[in-house]
Amino acid sequence: MKTSLLAPNYKDTPYWWDRTKRPILAQIDLPKKVDVAIIGSGYTGLQASIQTIRNGLETLVLESEQAGWGGSSRNGGQISTSIKPNFTELSKRFGSEHARAILQEGENALEWVGKFIQEEGIDCDFLKSGRFHGAHTPNQYQILKRNFEQNQQNFDPETQLISPAEQHYEIRSNFYHGGLLYPNHASLDPARYHQGLLDCALNCGVKIKDRCAVRKIERQNEGFLLYTDSGTLQTRELAVSTGGYTGSVTPWQQRRIIPIGSYIIATEELEDGLVDHLIPMNRVITDTRKLVVYYRASPDRKRILFGGRVSLNETDPNKSVGALHTQLTKIFPQLAAARVSHSWMGFVGFTFDFLPHTGVKDGINYSMGYCGSGVSLASYFGAKMGQRIAGLPEGKSALDDISFPTRPLYFGNPWFLAPSILFYQLKDRYFS
Ligand SMILES: Cc1cc2nc3c(=O)[nH]c(=O)nc-3n(C[C@H](O)[C@H](O)[C@H](O)COP(=O)(O)OP(=O)(O)OC[C@H]3O[C@@H](n4cnc5c(N)ncnc54)[C@H](O)[C@@H]3O)c2cc1C
Repeated sequence: MKTSLLAPNYKDTPYWWDRTKRPILAQIDLPKKVDVAIIGSGYTGLQASIQTIRNGLETLVLESEQAGWGGSSRNGGQISTSIKPNFTELSKRFGSEHARAILQEGENALEWVGKFIQEEGIDCDFLKSGRFHGAHTPNQYQILKRNFEQNQQNFDPETQLISPAEQHYEIRSNFYHGGLLYPNHASLDPARYHQGLLDCALNCGVKIKDRCAVRKIERQNEGFLLYTDSGTLQTRELAVSTGGYTGSVTPWQQRRIIPIGSYIIATEELEDGLVDHLIPMNRVITDTRKLVVYYRASPDRKRILFGGRVSLNETDPNKSVGALHTQLTKIFPQLAAARVSHSWMGFVGFTFDFLPHTGVKDGINYSMGYCGSGVSLASYFGAKMGQRIAGLPEGKSALDDISFPTRPLYFGNPWFLAPSILFYQLKDRYFS
């Protein structure tokens, strides 16, 4: 990598952490017994905890690192309706009624998270920015167009087809061949949102113990005994919300979650007006490539944040800078001289069927596998999990306890990742 690519103040930590310092929590003693223990302090765990505490259950969140250290303070801050499989794929597996209900949960999650942020007064740059989804080849545009015209009933009525001629209103790039616009999709600052959730949970009386990993779970007559870095603890109810960091302490979930690294760079502050020129409507942007890229302006509209997958195997964010910058400049050649101020990565929890999963297994509640769309889904299904634990009917969802697939010989180490990524790279380049 050319060192000239790096801004003088370059950091290999998330851009968001400059704006929202990592929280320093008051150290608490591990209680001997609680009603509800939740493993993981991201959006899922905190949203669940807010529901359980508000319904009178003494709740403790356990986090092995600092609060929010996982995907929830590192992500791209893009919010969409988020269910990956389409209606046809879901109908084959679940029938058309259930398929519709599952897709509706994605819409519910998008609406729910915006309402939650507003009601709780969380200052996190939440904006209904809209999302432009670009076609990276003329053929992909024809596929998008055909799908949109033939299945309009399955799209939000406000979705618009953007022809190649109209594209420059959305993005000043010739990289795409038209696309789709989802005006209701949104953006936020993920770490500020997490900080708002953390404040809300603490104010409600949730106890949060960070730097305290759960090492072992033992089933007991009335609940569970947890072995943690700070001793043991009894809990009546247990919830796992470990996302792409799900480990061997919950082996059943680990066999079902595929951790995939996602890498992001932030440019240094660009010259005045350049971001407004490149992304004039302030959309968040994705495209039709199987090997996903996602990008947007920073909330102050001075930088571009660009994320994706750049190597076959996991790598160091310091090494991914060059490849991400190259991808960025293929879309915006205007940024060839722009230096990078931040580069970071985090693990996204994928599933074998590309659906999020929530339910109860052997008495342990879980909600995970948002496949890179967890800002809304983790928030919504986390809250539902908390409501379910509290025995509330609102806790039910169309995804409850649907079968959560694994594969033979898969134990949490995705040995098949490199060949799959190579396959998608070739497909995107030569067969799209
Ligand atoms: C780089 C990146 C970009 C992304 N971009 C987007 C985006 O633009 N839009 C979007 O919707 N989603 C995005 N996502 C996905 C989104 O961030 C996640 O889906 C979401 O944050 C998941 O929240 P969570 O609470 O389930 O898990 P996390 O926030 O990952 O939290 C899990 C926590 O569990 C803790 N933990 C694990 N094991 C233990 C243990 N044994 N004991 C105690 N604690 C433990 C971990 O330390 C971690 O902090 C992105 C993710 C990444 C990594």
